[in-house]
Amino acid sequence: MESALTHLECSRSGERYDADIVQGLSKEAVPLIARYDVERAGRTLTREALATRPPDLWRYREMLPVRDSDHVITLGEGMTPLVPLPRYGARLGLPRLLMKDEGLIPTGSFKARGAAVGVSRAHELGVTGIAMPTNGNAGSAWATYSARAGMKSLIAMPVAAPAITRTECVAVGAELYLVDGLIGDAGRVIASALAARDGYQDVSTLKEPYRIEGKKTMGYEIVEQLGFRVPDAILYPTGGGVGLIGIFKALREMQQLGWIGDKLPKLIAVQAEGCAPIVRAFRSGAEVSEPFPNPHTVAFGITVPKALGDFLVLHAVRATGGTAVAVSDEALLAEQRRLAADEGTFICPEGAACFAAVRQLREGGFLSSADEVVVLNTGAGIKYPETIPVDVPILPPDGSIPA
Ligand SMILES: *Cc1c(COP(=O)(O)O)cnc(C)c1O
Repeated sequence: MESALTHLECSRSGERYDADIVQGLSKEAVPLIARYDVERAGRTLTREALATRPPDLWRYREMLPVRDSDHVITLGEGMTPLVPLPRYGARLGLPRLLMKDEGLIPTGSFKARGAAVGVSRAHELGVTGIAMPTNGNAGSAWATYSARAGMKSLIAMPVAAPAITRTECVAVGAELYLVDGLIGDAGRVIASALAARDGYQDVSTLKEPYRIEGKKTMGYEIVEQLGFRVPDAILYPTGGGVGLIGIFKALREMQQLGWIGDKLPKLIAVQAEGCAPIVRAFRSGAEVSEPFPNPHTVAFGITVPKALGDFLVLHAVRATGGTAVAVSDEALLAEQRRLAADEGTFICPEGAACFAAVRQLREGGFLSSADEVVVLNTGAGIKYPETIPVDVPILPPDGSIPA
């Protein structure tokens, strides 16, 4: 089993680019997309073969970009559980509700998928350091996998990013800077640092082609875990939108592999009301989004006021008959508590945004009780302790519980 990667393609013009050298954006300043010889991949990547492979994302090796298995940098990422939510789902009127729990992955967020594949491919192509702005989780994941690969990492994140992600970066020896601003400001810090030093690749969201490849494995896993079927809808908390772009790509590839038929799940992009550029563009019928003014939400990982791949997200949502929904911080925090109490799962606020959206879409009739719905919980709640106020009595050593 070897990679069937053939080339990269400009996501706007379709122009071909060499995949075996380090690449950034296309000449048109849009993301490059990895393409494969799917027929060749399908000769060894069969349902039967899959049944015998280890439960990690490298099981789809033929449709991943790393050519030599010696370059695979792994911490065991992938094949996260697809958890039924019977009690919570019944209350919502969606008995077939499922959650793909990406909290159970190295670094506690699904950013590990993009990092594992992106770092492995960068390592294979001779890159010795990576640099990126981040809202926290991507930085901690890429720093972690770079350490595993013996590579350097230069990370800049807003001071307001979840504190634990700083600790993770420092723990693995990253060069970390906190920026008193938003992710775009962190991006400017990285861009000017890169202009002044050599040996680092800019791995900002969608500025290198392989993060999508890592994240698309969520789509492969959902289909495999359902017994080579698609659900009716998939909800995804959308910042840069890489996961949604990746899942759509995976679905198309699986159609070519003959694993699934014409029917695709409705892809639903969920954002916070305080930062909803994709939702606005979807509603207005626009093909690209406008920068969202004064972005703010507790779901910090989706605070992306203008995504480079917005047109790809909007295309995926529209091509699948999906929709885009914004939810309030109040609603998502309430849903985080409800789900935890009903099902014993403590999820991240970004994932909780999707559950608030599920409620809204069920009440509004977009989702019906017969629908099989998969929600991506993109990270572990334990990375966000500040989202749950803990106001409980402290007892003296000889104390007893007040009556
Ligand atoms: C980064 C992140 C997202 C959004 O991912 P994009 O690929 O930027 O859309 C969602 N949830 C969590 C927990 C994240 O860290």
